[in-house]
Amino acid sequence: MSWINKSILTLISILPKWMIHPFAKTYVAGETIEKTIQVVKNLNNLGFSCTLDILGEHVQSSTIAEKITKDYCNLYDIISEEKLNCNISIKLTHIGLELDKDLVETNFQQILHRAESYNNFLRIDMENSPYTQKTIDLYQKNISIYKKLGIVLQAYLKRSLKDAKALNALDFNTRICKGIYNEPSNIALKDRKQIQDNFFLITKQILSGEGFAAIATHDIPLIDRIETWIEQNNIPNHRFEFQVLYGVPMGNRLKRLLSKGYSVRQYIPFGPDWFDYSLRRLKENPKIISYVLTNLFKR
Ligand SMILES: Cc1cc2nc3c(=O)[nH]c(=O)nc-3n(C[C@H](O)[C@H](O)[C@H](O)COP(=O)(O)OP(=O)(O)OC[C@H]3O[C@@H](n4cnc5c(N)ncnc54)[C@H](O)[C@@H]3O)c2cc1C
Repeated sequence: MSWINKSILTLISILPKWMIHPFAKTYVAGETIEKTIQVVKNLNNLGFSCTLDILGEHVQSSTIAEKITKDYCNLYDIISEEKLNCNISIKLTHIGLELDKDLVETNFQQILHRAESYNNFLRIDMENSPYTQKTIDLYQKNISIYKKLGIVLQAYLKRSLKDAKALNALDFNTRICKGIYNEPSNIALKDRKQIQDNFFLITKQILSGEGFAAIATHDIPLIDRIETWIEQNNIPNHRFEFQVLYGVPMGNRLKRLLSKGYSVRQYIPFGPDWFDYSLRRLKENPKIISYVLTNLFKR
C-alpha cells in the first residue's frame, strides 16, 4: 500500500461519518429503501436495469442473518409493487455462511423462493477465496430448484476459466468481474494484462457455449475488446449484458452501449452499513482510494 493511501485510510478511519458521507454517497444509493427506490426509478427511466445489494457481510449472529434474509424477501416485494426493472445480488456471508451450513441454505432458499414467486432473478456475489467453492456448491445445489439464479466468476482467480468450462450450460448465468479482494499469488493473477486476458477468455468461453455473460467492468479497453469480439461473432444481444457499479464515471460510454441496443445494468449498494462496508473495502483494496479521488476530480 502506498504511503499516501495508508495515510488517507488512517484519516478516514478516525473521521466522523458525516465527513465521509459526501464522498461515499457517490457510490452508495442511500441508507433507506425509499431513497434507493427513487435512484432505481431514475435509472430505469434512462434505460438502465438495476441490481440491488444491501450493504453488509460476515454477520456473526443468526438473528442478524435471518433479519437480512427477511429484508431481501421484502425487497423483492417492493421491486414488484413498484414495477422496477431490478433484481437482487446477495453475499452469502451476509445471510450466515460463516455461521452454519443449514442456516445459510435455509436463508438462501427463502430468498430464492421469493425471487421465484415474482419470476425475478437472484445472483450470488462472489466473496474472497475461502468462500469460492462453498458459493459454487450452493449455486449448483439450487440451480435445479430455480433457473433464474446466477453466480460470479472473478477473472483474477486462476481457477475461474476452469470453473467457467465446468459450469457453462444453457441456464448458466454468470457475472464476470476482475475481483476485488486481495488474494495470494499462488491462486490469483496479479498482472493487470493477465487479468484482462483471463476476463476476455472467460467471457469468450461463456458466449461460445450456451450461457449468459454479465460483463462487469469499467475498464474501457477491455469493454472495447469484448464488444469487438461480440460483434465479429454475431453474439445475439439476449446472451449478454454490461454491468457497472453505481456512481463510477463512464463518460458517455453507457449511453453508447444502450444506443446499440445492449442491456446495461447498474449495481447499486445501499443500506445503513455503508460506512463499515466502505472502510472494509478500502482496507482490502486501497487502490479504490485513488479511483475515488481521481473520479471526484474528473467530475
Ligand atoms: C456490477 C459489478 C459487480 C461486481 N461484483 C463483484 C463480486 O461479486 N465480487 C468481486 O470480487 N468483485 C466484484 N466487482 C468488483 C470488480 O471485481 C472490480 O474490483 C472492479 O469492478 C474494478 O475493476 P474494473 O474491471 O472496473 O477495472 P479497473 O481497471 O480496476 O478499473 C477501471 C476504471 O474504473 C474505475 N473504477 C473501478 N472500480 C472503481 C470503484 N470501486 N470506485 C471508483 N472507480 C472505480 C476507475 O476509474 C478505474 O480506472 C463487481 C464489479 C461490478 C462492476
